[in-house]
Amino acid sequence: MMGASLLYHLALEGCTDAILLEKGELTSGSTWHAAGQCPSITGSYNLAKIHAYGNQLYPRLEALTGQYVSWHGCGGLRLATKPHELAWLQQVYGYSKVIGFGMEIVGIDTIKRLNPFLNPPGGIAAALTTDDGHGDPSGLCQALAKGARDLGATVLRRHRVLDIRARPSGEWDVITDQGTVTAGMVVNAAGCYAREVAKMVGSDAPIVNMQHHYVVTHPIAAFQERAGEIPVMRDPYMRGYFRQEQKSGLIGVYESEQLAEAWAPRGHPEWDASNELFPEDLERIAPWLERAMERMPIFADAGIRRVINGAIPHTPDGAPLLGPVAERRNLWMCCGSSFGIAQGAGCGKYLAQWMLHGDAEINMSEFDPRRFGRFADAGYTRAKVFLDYRTTFVTRRPGEEEPDGRPQRVSPLYERLRGAGAVHGETHGWERPKWFSPDGRAEEYSYQRNNVFELVAAETRAVHERAGILDLSGFSKYEIRGAGAEAFLNRVCANRMPRKNGRIALVHALSPNGRILAEMTVTRLADDLFYALSAAAAEVRDLDLLRERVLPDEAVSIENVTEARGVLVLSGPRSRELLARLTPAPLGNADFPWLSAREISVAGRAVRALRVSYVGELGWELHAERSALGDLYEALWSAGAQFGLANYGLYAVNGMRVEKGYKAWSTELTNELNMLEADMERFIDFNKPDFIGKQATLAQAPRPLKIVYLEVAATDTDARGGEPVLVGERCVGIVTSGAYGHRVRKSLAFACVDPQWAAPGSRLEVLIQGERRAAMVLAGPAFDADNLRMRA
Ligand SMILES: Cc1cc2nc3c(=O)[nH]c(=O)nc-3n(C[C@H](O)[C@H](O)[C@H](O)COP(=O)(O)OP(=O)(O)OC[C@H]3O[C@@H](n4cnc5c(N)ncnc54)[C@H](O)[C@@H]3O)c2cc1C
Repeated sequence: MMGASLLYHLALEGCTDAILLEKGELTSGSTWHAAGQCPSITGSYNLAKIHAYGNQLYPRLEALTGQYVSWHGCGGLRLATKPHELAWLQQVYGYSKVIGFGMEIVGIDTIKRLNPFLNPPGGIAAALTTDDGHGDPSGLCQALAKGARDLGATVLRRHRVLDIRARPSGEWDVITDQGTVTAGMVVNAAGCYAREVAKMVGSDAPIVNMQHHYVVTHPIAAFQERAGEIPVMRDPYMRGYFRQEQKSGLIGVYESEQLAEAWAPRGHPEWDASNELFPEDLERIAPWLERAMERMPIFADAGIRRVINGAIPHTPDGAPLLGPVAERRNLWMCCGSSFGIAQGAGCGKYLAQWMLHGDAEINMSEFDPRRFGRFADAGYTRAKVFLDYRTTFVTRRPGEEEPDGRPQRVSPLYERLRGAGAVHGETHGWERPKWFSPDGRAEEYSYQRNNVFELVAAETRAVHERAGILDLSGFSKYEIRGAGAEAFLNRVCANRMPRKNGRIALVHALSPNGRILAEMTVTRLADDLFYALSAAAAEVRDLDLLRERVLPDEAVSIENVTEARGVLVLSGPRSRELLARLTPAPLGNADFPWLSAREISVAGRAVRALRVSYVGELGWELHAERSALGDLYEALWSAGAQFGLANYGLYAVNGMRVEKGYKAWSTELTNELNMLEADMERFIDFNKPDFIGKQATLAQAPRPLKIVYLEVAATDTDARGGEPVLVGERCVGIVTSGAYGHRVRKSLAFACVDPQWAAPGSRLEVLIQGERRAAMVLAGPAFDADNLRMRA
């Protein structure tokens, strides 16, 4: 499905010199045995765009290609019986408004009208989606392949790829059992075999294949007597789905016990496997089948006619792998989709755009395979995949993170801070403090402000009034060296590198199309040495980006020093006094101004100190050898007692960065936008003769996209991203991120809107949890617009 869709969309984009190699017959992997459902509902806004595209294409595919796809546009009902399940549906309802798929939240009367056979519990609600349904997976896949062939692309069946070898030219030899194909680009779309195919190029695809069952009942009289078809039902209570399959029932469950991998335990792929199923294990899924029958009593007497137990590829975070392979050129992935029928169309479309045009029109950061790194080893991947499988139909709340597969990457302070109440969150394998629990309380996860709200307020107050300390060792860190380093970075980034040693600049790397790929803080340490910091999640991508852009004759080397150094962030009006207790280095503005860096000694430890702040207060980032971090923290903590030093975490950071109006990579700063659209013009130096993306930025025709900064009249629920921005009944944009600002006592957000509504003072509304909230475009940062506190 994924390969056929990619081929079709490459061909649609004009690239017909493309071949799909299939070891057996098309669909003989996971695709043939799928249940074929294509839900509109999914927890991620960007993934919802992928789903929505499939649901637009599939009903038309038969007419477009002449291939029978058996599309049933019966819609879907996702049931909710708990408040947080309904809250999640409200969040997704927001996506539907922005993306434009049919969805409404309905009550018992509509549910019963659409599915009169349901035995509903009290207090039930549902999301009714109207553009989706189910199709025949083989038909859909064959239709995409036919469409691709009709456009001029090639499908070679019975060609097994045995090996993939690099050529000096940058091309690849794809060696099959029928001969070799030389290709400019190669895409791994091998489904359950993707990990084995990745090994051919010395790489990895963090995928574990899971066994998944559905059963088909004998025909049911009640369905036979009725003309229509019930919607596809999705139900957290029975951890799965059920629907009509012609006049029979079809029930699929995601069991939570005794999960089973597909072929991985046997230790090697059976390359000859084709149209393979696994032995049925009804005992394993029986508790959930019983629940399905409780919901649909007409299933109980029908008897089971067919059991399907097939393999599905899953990734650690449940999202597909779409994008470049780390550290390899011209190698891509289009695999790891656990809803490959629903997602196949959109995955193919947006990956084809990326491959051929350099950027996709949607934000691809959560699909980029390089969101994983070496930390996603076999043990981690297995633990996370098991979690992903068993929670497929469990509604998770914002901030909820399970312990499976953790901790994988920790700072030397991990245990120390846990002892102090730190509640960690995971990013790119790193454990990073989110907030500190002073009394052992656990977070009551919710879309609403919850029981950590006041604690985050207190952490923010400490940073604002006294001093706070934060372990941010997970920062990605690179050293860029060589006589050509300055010219290289000036070519790669839109902003100019600092001219003086010891100065710091915020810079962005753009695609040749001018879209935003990366944001880094670069410190010039010496004439030929720059220290670059970027988001933890960008570690592999930014390293790739930097290394790929070095020209053959350029005297530049790039080293990833992420693991070598830890980082403590010291922030707050008393941070200078505190730090002065531990260092002989002068810290005043004359000697150590804002946006400068010095190598200093702190408590006898060598520290690279950067006077920068993401939270908008006086402060320093202290970068030290990992081995020194423990002592450094203890020294700061002891000296800090008299200044009221407090630990703080990333929840507080997020509120403070939004107060400062700082846009974040991957939410505001994405491959969807250029710097002008992201309102980042002040970080471009157009006086430079050239930088990658300059011409495209200047030439970009106006588009209806502009990042704005909003004050939102929220009461107990803040916008967090994905909420529609409305003018009357018209949806004019989407919130990209948001938070409550405790220093300014305002709910704030960034949104991407039609520029017509971007002028400061524009009055808009944001739909949060089904309620309209007034919002106004702000002219500048809500907190300390002149940066007086950071310069203090
Ligand atoms: C029981 C069950 C029900 C499901 N129901 C749904 C559903 O309702 N909706 C939904 O969206 N998803 C569903 N899925 C998931 C869906 O089947 C998969 O996500 C999807 O088929 C994955 O597609 P793919 O193209 O990545 O993999 P595949 O279909 O496995 O395709 C990969 C292809 O690569 C070929 N290949 C591998 N190695 C090589 C090699 N070395 N050389 C040449 N060719 C090679 C294989 O032969 C295979 O045909 C279900 C899965 C199961 C098991």
